[in-house]
Amino acid sequence: MTGRRIEIVSGPEPPRCPRCRREGLLLARVPYGWTNAGGVAVRGRGEVVLCAACDADAARAAPLITWFHVHATVEPADSEEFLQLLAAWADEVSVPPLDRKRWEDEIEQLT
Ligand SMILES: [Zn+2]
Repeated sequence: MTGRRIEIVSGPEPPRCPRCRREGLLLARVPYGWTNAGGVAVRGRGEVVLCAACDADAARAAPLITWFHVHATVEPADSEEFLQLLAAWADEVSVPPLDRKRWEDEIEQLT
């Protein structure tokens, strides 16, 4: 997949994992898109948190978690390796089909 831009969201506070409510390692905005039932392309961004506890068993998250253990901080501009791990993880965490109806409902409420 090409053209997917992943934004790392950084703030004064570490991100909080929405699953276990503990401190997450990384908050990223991941683009998603699909064609809805009416044939209209839907595009947007979803925020995902990388969590050392919840994502430890996820095949593509584990190398990224290890990267954080080794490097401690995010300097993505400096690290091709990090960007590759991030892209692989983002592919895995893309909004699953079952959530699409919910996303569409939310988008409709915004417009
Ligand atoms: Zn968690």
